[in-house]
Amino acid sequence: MSPALPPPTRRTFLAMTGVSAAAFALGTGQAAAADETVGGRVPSDPFALGVASGDPLPDGVVLWTRLAPDPLAPDGHGGMPARPYSVRYEVAEDASFRRVVRRGQAVATPELAHSVHAEVRGLRPGREYFYRFRAGSELSPVGRTRTAPDHRTTPSGLRFATASCAAWYHGHFTAYEHMAAEDLDLVLFLGDYIYEYGITAGNLWREGVPLPAAEHAVETETLEQYRLRYSLFKSDPNLQAAHANAPWLITTDDHEVQNNYADDWSEKGVPPDDFLRRRAVAYRALYENQPLRAVMRPEGPDLPLYRRYRWGRLAQIDMLDNRQFRDRYPAGQVIDDSPERHDPRRSLLGARQEKWLYDGLRRSDATWNLLGTGVVMAEIDRDPGSGELYSNDMWDGFPANRDRLWTAFERYRIANPVALSGDIHRHVAAELKADWKDPDSRTVGTELVTGSIASDGDGAETDSVGELWLANPHVELYNARRGYLSCALTPDRLTAQFKTVEYVTRPGAPIRTTARFVTEAGRPGLNREV
Ligand code: FE
Ligand code: CA
Repeated sequence: MSPALPPPTRRTFLAMTGVSAAAFALGTGQAAAADETVGGRVPSDPFALGVASGDPLPDGVVLWTRLAPDPLAPDGHGGMPARPYSVRYEVAEDASFRRVVRRGQAVATPELAHSVHAEVRGLRPGREYFYRFRAGSELSPVGRTRTAPDHRTTPSGLRFATASCAAWYHGHFTAYEHMAAEDLDLVLFLGDYIYEYGITAGNLWREGVPLPAAEHAVETETLEQYRLRYSLFKSDPNLQAAHANAPWLITTDDHEVQNNYADDWSEKGVPPDDFLRRRAVAYRALYENQPLRAVMRPEGPDLPLYRRYRWGRLAQIDMLDNRQFRDRYPAGQVIDDSPERHDPRRSLLGARQEKWLYDGLRRSDATWNLLGTGVVMAEIDRDPGSGELYSNDMWDGFPANRDRLWTAFERYRIANPVALSGDIHRHVAAELKADWKDPDSRTVGTELVTGSIASDGDGAETDSVGELWLANPHVELYNARRGYLSCALTPDRLTAQFKTVEYVTRPGAPIRTTARFVTEAGRPGLNREV
């Protein structure tokens, strides 16, 4: 971005990155006339990026697609002419669409890269549904989704997966391929859906694919570049299959914008005003490419990301925002032992999100309280000797915030808190302790960290820092292979299966369960079975 630009105001942000209310409403289907068709002839094969659903409520889900017959067209518009197109959708009880229960229409506009975010209501709770889109005479692939159970009921189970860190260039999405074959109610995505780094011969470890075009060789900064990056990653059929298999609830970590960012702070020294402009276009491309509800439409650099979903009385699911409101790194250091990290004012979530979280926990009547957080919550001392060394990028950079969360757990007697995190490209299971320095202190909750889908390539059972992590007595698993986490939740127990593949640089690796842990309701902590 040119340093000569004036400082952005809310109005210039909207001018640069905003989407007109009309264009936006059209994409949700709310303003689309039932019978009118706009756009004319649709280019063939416009559903090359697949379909997705997300954010399930008891009476509906949001359905997503994006018209992109040529996803990698350099202008970021996926090969679509610069005019709006009608897109119809239908929702059925069966995969062959004999029992269609809802039909609707939205308009895919060029302002939102021809994406559609159709919010379907009027469905029945706790049910499986199938959906598809039609544009002109073109029919999309069929997606399978699910509504949440009625809030007043306690369903017998919730089967969900967690995933994070899908660097397309580091390997094949074999983990997504296996996740797509599971019978899941929900997928929680915990950050790093794309990466901003330039893709070159040096980091293209995914064998059998050509080096992407020159547009991809540099770090993403502009709206066009972020759009293209989503197009590249989402062109993967295994990712598309994982989306088509179950509704997703996503949060983000840093790489959806830039490594290690904190609010308006960039580790590469981008001035805050310029960085906020970049954040604005990154969030806009994110919205365009994910199954998110209209209330989550970004406004300039602000994305209303943190939100609460429920699975009846079985689970409350708080999806947290780890980046937009966090304080900067102590002394500007991502890893250090600075006493500044203990400043009681420091927050990972920001004051408003903290209040929202504690209020929501206080009111929760759920058996399980799941927290979807991009970064690791457990304290991890990385100094093998008597000193201490922490990553300030994780919750360790914000111990006062973590202590306040623990206080909320205790004060409101929160049932069965479980932190679900990612970011580190390693499978980790940890017990959350009242006093990290005393292994005999109370266990307040459980943390399950999912490894990466592809980031860091093939991996191995362990690596150079595995012993350091395991030297923290509350850490019970460390595995450096690629994979995902498959969980089964019942009123009595949470069973967590850490799934791994032995390689990703080549396709086709079989899946295996590398570890299985059970947490019993009312007894926080981990019991290893495999
Ligand atoms: Fe990552
Ligand atoms: Ca990360």
